[in-house]
Amino acid sequence: MDINFDVPFDTLFKPAQDWTTPSGIVIPHRPFKKYLRTDLAAVFQSQGIMDPLLEEREIVAQVFPFKINAHIIDQIDWSNYENDPIFQLTFPQPDMLLPNEIEHMKQLKKDNASRELVAAYISDLRSGKNPAPANQSANRPLLEDDHEDSTIPCDGLQHKYKQIVLMFHKNAQTCHAYCTYCFRFNQFTGKDKFLEPDEHRLHKYLKSHTEITDVLMTGGDPATMKVDVWKRTIEPLLTPEFAHIRTIRIGTKALTYHPYRFLTDPDADELISLFKRVKQAGKHIAIMAHFSHYNEISDITKEAARRLIEEGGCVIRTQAPIMKHINDKPEIWAKNWQIQIANGMIPYYMFVARDTGPQHYFEVPLAKTLWLYQEARKMGSGLSHTVRGPSMSSGPGKITILGKENVAGEDVFVLKFLQGRNPHWCDRVFFAKYDEKASWIHELVPAFGKKEFFFEEEFKCILESRSKHYNDAMKDS
Ligand code: SF4
Repeated sequence: MDINFDVPFDTLFKPAQDWTTPSGIVIPHRPFKKYLRTDLAAVFQSQGIMDPLLEEREIVAQVFPFKINAHIIDQIDWSNYENDPIFQLTFPQPDMLLPNEIEHMKQLKKDNASRELVAAYISDLRSGKNPAPANQSANRPLLEDDHEDSTIPCDGLQHKYKQIVLMFHKNAQTCHAYCTYCFRFNQFTGKDKFLEPDEHRLHKYLKSHTEITDVLMTGGDPATMKVDVWKRTIEPLLTPEFAHIRTIRIGTKALTYHPYRFLTDPDADELISLFKRVKQAGKHIAIMAHFSHYNEISDITKEAARRLIEEGGCVIRTQAPIMKHINDKPEIWAKNWQIQIANGMIPYYMFVARDTGPQHYFEVPLAKTLWLYQEARKMGSGLSHTVRGPSMSSGPGKITILGKENVAGEDVFVLKFLQGRNPHWCDRVFFAKYDEKASWIHELVPAFGKKEFFFEEEFKCILESRSKHYNDAMKDS
């Protein structure tokens, strides 16, 4: 066994133990057991299924990484697995690749092509599917170098909106399972290096940027990190020199993909007590939980949420994208929100499927997302109206569709920036020609005969300037 002597021995890892709820129900510990592409056939066999599309699924899983665990397998209705939302959420689907792409992969196999040739084709395929969308690489900040008169690029940080910085820790580069629509497919294969080796540059950057109030721990899923890494990252932020940091946000799907993380895992107690200390230090700790469908919300998820809220002092806000085959019906969202609210969580965002990866398989036209959002809201009480959406996380910012109207004789989408790369864009309303088929901002055309949306010229300049600074820093580093 390799022992990392760099890790301080200040964390007591206890053996995993069962969890007893306040009402006396025992939740037995379930060790995390993952299944990867090479286990696909065995997973189907374990359910007594001969899947006719196994070969195609294995091909898709070569392009879009596949990972699942025993807890997820139990959430799927295997008697109707092809239509099950959790199966669609986690298992590779043949139509996620185009027919010619599947055929090409089959041909390579038939020809006994070398590993290098297959890997090169897969790499090209991935690169052509817009990994790291919304110009994410332009969000990487630069840090002053103490020893030189230069700056260092921080690949594992992103600073797009003034008040918030995102951290992609080295130990958070994976998730407890992978969503089929995830836009981080290149990161999971080690190609897009949004990765911080440790907490040091984050702390240094935050010290010199007192306009930042929020840190978002993301990944992958930061809940895959052990508590000693959490402590090294978070505890220093509780000291006076980080008084400007008011909120720690945690972007995670562990509440549904591995809820045992917060109950029975060996370091679950220490993680909850760390969250409590953050709260006691007067800071807000926000779990940005990813809930795609109410079928994911098991009793174990509900208990983990209760513990995070009541013992950890966390606030749980929920979000997910609208995805065909998974949750493109208003009643699914209404029920999802209703269960979340009943369990103390706050519905927060409804996103539009990003322009990345297998978008053609999952995309829902903007016109339908608007209808779906409005219908779902009508089905619930005002408490579910905290949800913002349908929102596109695009390069210029988070853009929501407020409605469809007829203005000056023209059918238009009314759009609004919820967040802008330039903070002055926030809350600006603008108009695009109504288009029943468009599914992303770049497919929309400005209304009233305008050539460009108001932000486009400035956005181009911002991107050019950021990429010049980054490239200059790369040359110097
Ligand atoms: S949990 Fe988030 S980061 Fe992980 S696979 Fe799903 S969408 Fe991607």
